[in-house]
Amino acid sequence: MKKYLTALCFLSLLKVFSQDFITPFERSQGTETATYEEGIEFYQKLASHYPEIKVFEYGTTDIGKPLHLVVFSEDRDFNPASLKAKNKTIFLIINAIHPGEPDGVDASMMLLRDVVQNNKFRKMCKNTILAIIPFYNVDGALQRNSFSRANQNGPKSYGFRANAKNLDLNRDFIKMDSENAKTFVKIFQTWQPDVQIDNHVTNGADYQYTMTYIFANPVLYAPDMQSYFLKEFKPDLLNLMKKKGEEMCPYVETRKNIPDSGLVQNVRSPRFSHIYATQFHTLALVAETHMLKPFDKRVWATYKMMLSILEILEKDGIKIQRNRKKSFEYFQKQEKLVLDWKINETKPTMIDFKGYEAEFVTSNVTGLLRLRYNTQKPYTKKIPYYETHEPKLIIQKPKMYIIPRAYVNIVKMLEMNGVQITRFTKKETFKGFYYYIKDFKTPKYPYEGHYFHYDIEVEKKPDTYTLQEGDFVVMTNQPHINFIMNVLEPQAPDSYFAWNFFDTILQQKEYFSDYVFEDIAEKLLAENPALRAEFEAKKRNDAEFAQSSSKQLDFIYKNSPYYEKHHQRYPIFRVE
Ligand SMILES: [Zn+2]
Repeated sequence: MKKYLTALCFLSLLKVFSQDFITPFERSQGTETATYEEGIEFYQKLASHYPEIKVFEYGTTDIGKPLHLVVFSEDRDFNPASLKAKNKTIFLIINAIHPGEPDGVDASMMLLRDVVQNNKFRKMCKNTILAIIPFYNVDGALQRNSFSRANQNGPKSYGFRANAKNLDLNRDFIKMDSENAKTFVKIFQTWQPDVQIDNHVTNGADYQYTMTYIFANPVLYAPDMQSYFLKEFKPDLLNLMKKKGEEMCPYVETRKNIPDSGLVQNVRSPRFSHIYATQFHTLALVAETHMLKPFDKRVWATYKMMLSILEILEKDGIKIQRNRKKSFEYFQKQEKLVLDWKINETKPTMIDFKGYEAEFVTSNVTGLLRLRYNTQKPYTKKIPYYETHEPKLIIQKPKMYIIPRAYVNIVKMLEMNGVQITRFTKKETFKGFYYYIKDFKTPKYPYEGHYFHYDIEVEKKPDTYTLQEGDFVVMTNQPHINFIMNVLEPQAPDSYFAWNFFDTILQQKEYFSDYVFEDIAEKLLAENPALRAEFEAKKRNDAEFAQSSSKQLDFIYKNSPYYEKHHQRYPIFRVE
């Protein structure tokens, strides 16, 4: 009897205990997602029970709470440098960067529990370090509501997309307006992940798939990584998912209004998590489950996606690490880098697409035509997929960049991203080039807190620079060259110039009074026949110019020593 009671006691204890590791998602039969508090508590309990798990707290976020990183390490080593030395593959999982899309939050909790409790899974992580950010946008995760994802099929309540500063954190990896981004960069640069996944839920068209994927554009990888990705990683992942009953298709960005018109893989820039990661040659992807599929189905699809990646890493981890190492060497040797891409419109791949018939019917609301996907009419069609990209902006790599001391904020951001900076040692004069900003566009309304610049045109002019005390030098012969050029070359789509860090150079500080300058202008033309010739020719060829005295005086002023030399001059000097 005593024995029986003890056994019963043990069993019920075990039940209570294992109950502790049941997630809110499971407890609610797949209808609810863990709150921030539930999620963090779950990981902390798991870590206190299993020494192979450690919960790190990094920096802070805009809401003042730390950014958590939960790490599973089979041999209980949690030192990134020592793990790298042991050739462990680091797999980083980002969740809830958009907390209204919480599928990864719940999938990651179950995955980590299963890895630590299930021998088969645990074996899979012998050489892989699982590093999970449970909630990237902590701020948004705390703003629970049931409405902000108007079209999404569950869970019952969830967080809000933007953070405490109303920023979309998946646009913030370069400009780092949020504390979350600064803290993430620290995590990323400390752990140097070999593979990264960022878990989302998509909007848009209706179709049959639960899981869609965005892989970083393969052109961003060095040749070995690119070839491995295209020939092995991608087909393996698609196959493993298919075996688990989750056939996937590319993220559905339609060419026109419906998928039949074709899908495109749009060019993305490093402001996004997956492209940020490729600056450092991490194999990166974004999981986008489909918002119209029930929450539980989406969570399990995300779980299977991450599990499939673990399976690949078990066999290919070393190969990926080797390819990543070679990528740094490859780009360091290149004389030119491609900093922007465009879609190749002529070479779509034909893919099988499992969609639903699109119908246009009269709307009961507006009385106008509305689009409806008829889920009673599924189809499989061959549709074009525009997934290849070609260079749009190629820039010669300089030997070094000189950053004047006034721009210490730029240096700080570079250093946070692991860029090596050389400090001034002696006064030395270098020959090189300045860029002058010739043209750019800016939207009427701010984008992510910025009057962001695009379509930037520059003119390069030779000059000299004498290093002053406090100036900084960035040698380009260093591993993080892709990041350096993507932020320091003003024309790159996510350059620091584009993100407004150099806007002060765009304003002229001194000017002239027309009536006084008239006499000076006359003298200048008399003394400079070449300028006079250019001026006369412009008057002949440009009717508007010929009719405007202020334009004419401005032309002479801008070609005179009175005009400030550094107006529109991008202050970072290129030594080639
Ligand atoms: Zn999202």
